[in-house]
Amino acid sequence: MCGIISYCGKRPAIPILIDGLKRLEYRGYDSAGLSTVDNNKMVTIKTVGKVAKLENKTAGIQNSSTFGIAHTRWATHGKPSEINAHPQSDCTNKISVVHNGIIENYLELREELQKKGHRFKSQTDTEVVAHLIEDNYEDDLEVAILKTVERLVGTFGLAIIHSDFDHRVFIVKRGSPIIIGIGDDEYFAASDSNALAPYTHKMIYLSDDEFAVLNSNKYYIKNMKNQILEKKIEILEEDDYQVDKKGFEHYMLKEIFEQPESIKNAFRGRIIINEGVSKLGGLEPVVDRLKDIKKMIIISCGTSYHAGLVGRYIFESLTELDIEIELASEFRYRRLKLDEDVAVLAISQSGETADTLAAIKEAKRKGALLLGIVNAVGTSIAQITDAGVYNHAGPEIGVASTKIYTSQLVILTLMALFIGRYQSISFSEGNEILCALKKLPDQVKDILKNDNQIKKIASKYSGYNDFLYIGRLYNYPTAMEGALKLKEISYIHAEGYPAGEMKHGPISLIDENFPTIAIVPIDSTYDKMINNVHEIKARNGKILSITNEKAEKIKKLSDDFICVPQTIPILQPILNIIPLQLFAYYVAREKGCDIDKPRNLAKSVTVE
Ligand code: GLU
Repeated sequence: MCGIISYCGKRPAIPILIDGLKRLEYRGYDSAGLSTVDNNKMVTIKTVGKVAKLENKTAGIQNSSTFGIAHTRWATHGKPSEINAHPQSDCTNKISVVHNGIIENYLELREELQKKGHRFKSQTDTEVVAHLIEDNYEDDLEVAILKTVERLVGTFGLAIIHSDFDHRVFIVKRGSPIIIGIGDDEYFAASDSNALAPYTHKMIYLSDDEFAVLNSNKYYIKNMKNQILEKKIEILEEDDYQVDKKGFEHYMLKEIFEQPESIKNAFRGRIIINEGVSKLGGLEPVVDRLKDIKKMIIISCGTSYHAGLVGRYIFESLTELDIEIELASEFRYRRLKLDEDVAVLAISQSGETADTLAAIKEAKRKGALLLGIVNAVGTSIAQITDAGVYNHAGPEIGVASTKIYTSQLVILTLMALFIGRYQSISFSEGNEILCALKKLPDQVKDILKNDNQIKKIASKYSGYNDFLYIGRLYNYPTAMEGALKLKEISYIHAEGYPAGEMKHGPISLIDENFPTIAIVPIDSTYDKMINNVHEIKARNGKILSITNEKAEKIKKLSDDFICVPQTIPILQPILNIIPLQLFAYYVAREKGCDIDKPRNLAKSVTVE
């Protein structure tokens, strides 16, 4: 998920590796490291924290090696620590590996290798790659790497060196980006061309299941059958180096467009469709306790709170649990009985949210089972909770959360199904949910194709100073999250309301200058939502609705509408929020706001 850079040439490798890592810093990371070979010995230097720290550590070292690999890690398996930082090595410390992505079957491989006597040092999924190469190596390292890759399930960009093989860097790609840079008698590999900008403009884009060998005066690329491939060299222009945001103007937009992938990453390897169940390794250790739980309290803040609100409905429809939801900052003031048949579920993107942390400490004192949904591995909330599930959504840099929100909704669904299948949910219900889940990435892609239409609508509405967002049931939280996105980044006043509550107050605000965004999917609330829209129209209010293609009535009633594909009601909020994220983004852009760093806001809120 984060960065790889490797070099093989005639110049000292370390300064090039450090410089490349600095160019990859924008991707977000928690630790960094590099390996080179000096006098036939593997030299590995790692650190938690910034690349500048790694640079300091390398400063005094005499190392004239002219090839090496380097990495910025964004932990997915094992907390950020020096041991878990990459490169990872085998038992003999002759093989060094850096990896972006996730090895899904690492536990099974680790057990197998441990039985054969391999000793593991880290908690990462990556370390199995180094040991497996060691295990497969007889007399041909390339064959050993190919045999290793054959055994791996998951996504990976890998760069590998071996201290017995001078001037050889091995690159493998499946699912994670990695490209080859061609210089004059020097070769590079990197997660994106940005890292290579000062060194070369000639790039080869590897496809999945391709394998490159870089030497100081030649390179070749093979497929997994060990056959040499002819690959085209692309010449990049200066403009092509805007790749830090992959050509997007802002991180927020890039992250909105990453949602097909982040949603897939949330359920990848975690569903067994033909059994109608979710497989959540992070919950296995507490599964017996979970079976006895009667009540669950979800606690979170901001966007994660809105995910929790949707989660409440999801848990209610898939489990027998009593569900409560509370803002973390309010939780501690409540006089709640929390004993062992209560689970407290904390949702936090950063895993460091101070309010949520304080709330779960309180819950722990009272004896509740603590569960977590966290994106950043090994963080405080991940450590304090008894069990939990990581999002695997990759770093989110835009302050306004987008891809983490939809990822949280996927995880909540998987968790509810995990518990529900021990209760009354049937195989066929489970199967139906998982089939719908699998379709989401493509459905999100379809919505993103409408980007231009949403941009035009946003431009039309960008002059208003106030907005009301309304929805019911699963989409009442969508209304709140949509309104939050708009206010966070465009500084426009917006209120998210349950539509039924409108007539108890907010309707008095409605006139021709106060538009309403109505979330009206075809579900059990459709007719009631239509009534609300009529009430707004009767007061000259403008209506922009988020709905489905077949919803003719609401399309006719609305001034503007955006259609999203239809899915099962519990998953519909995942699709409905996407146009609202884009709407907020384009309104803020029209107003010239600092979208990725909105005023007064911080990405990780570590104060109470
Ligand atoms: N899954 C690996 C780890 O946790 C790699 C993470 C990354 O892509 O940075 O160490």
